[in-house]
Amino acid sequence: MNMDVRTHKPDVRKKVSLKIFNTLRLEAIAPIMFVAHSTDDLSEFAKRVCSWDDFYLLGAGSNIFIENDILNKPVLILGKEFSYIERVDSLSLEIGAATALSKVISYTIEQNLRGLEELAGIPASIGGMMACNASSFGKELLSLVEEAAVIDESGEIKHVKKSDIRYSYRRSSLENCIIIKAILRFDEACDVREKVISYLGKRLDMQDFSYPSAGCIFKNPLNVSAGYLIDKCGLKGFRVGGAQVSLKHGNFIINRADAKAGDINYIIAVIKERVNERFGIILEEEIVRWKI
Ligand SMILES: Cc1cc2nc3c(=O)[nH]c(=O)nc-3n(C[C@H](O)[C@H](O)[C@H](O)COP(=O)(O)OP(=O)(O)OC[C@H]3O[C@@H](n4cnc5c(N)ncnc54)[C@H](O)[C@@H]3O)c2cc1C
Repeated sequence: MNMDVRTHKPDVRKKVSLKIFNTLRLEAIAPIMFVAHSTDDLSEFAKRVCSWDDFYLLGAGSNIFIENDILNKPVLILGKEFSYIERVDSLSLEIGAATALSKVISYTIEQNLRGLEELAGIPASIGGMMACNASSFGKELLSLVEEAAVIDESGEIKHVKKSDIRYSYRRSSLENCIIIKAILRFDEACDVREKVISYLGKRLDMQDFSYPSAGCIFKNPLNVSAGYLIDKCGLKGFRVGGAQVSLKHGNFIINRADAKAGDINYIIAVIKERVNERFGIILEEEIVRWKI
């Protein structure tokens, strides 16, 4: 594993704009951003914070909704040292938590390793996907995870075996730790590229990539998609300020032009109200809110 464990001054950045760190492209300032370059950095950080609620942990920022212009807690992000792929054996890879899914997909295409094709195109990090149990076309990322290494609240590194990782729709028992790496097990196949292209095509047909978004805003209720319910309420295209319900996918809110968190909140409130009025269903949010 190529993580740097030397002792150095903590990498603390001040007044960082988060616009490029969240896929909704909302403007917000993090008064302090702590960039971890080693597991020692993370242990030290975890030991210093009083509780897990005292900071925001940022992956690729593709599922977060930042509600305030200025945050009141530090943001922790894993540095490039946590972005790597290493071969463990012929079918297993050790992957750093900050590694972009796109990088892993490219590697698995080169190496004929099957397993992640259904998830191709999700603009996320492996750590964030494990925390949220990202899934797509019936494939859950956590189903491939054999073992994970995490930092727990006491700052200790814990190795968690597959049998101890519990997960369900968008929930994971790893969501309350700092995930640092995982071992994923694949199958061998020679049609990985074709499968990736096919699932990417389906994703591009269904999802809206024309403007910034955080993917689906709501979880799907049992046996029905939230996007279908939103569409049936006539809300596709509903616009408030710079934010709009995508015309392509009812469960996407896109940032058409300099959207504000208030615009998005207003749309979310209207969607919830209309869907409840018409179908008696209370939609549950999938996005992770960062709110003071
Ligand atoms: C265009 C688009 C399409 C999408 N399609 C899908 C889809 O098909 N399926 C799906 O499931 N999701 C989808 N998403 C949503 C999103 O990509 C996933 O929820 C993803 O898991 C978020 O990963 P991230 O690295 O961006 O995490 P972030 O958004 O940065 O963080 C999300 C949560 O994970 C936590 N987290 C991040 N890194 C770590 C870590 N190392 N350790 C512990 N916790 C961590 C954060 O604290 C936060 O609570 C989509 C999003 C977009 C923008």
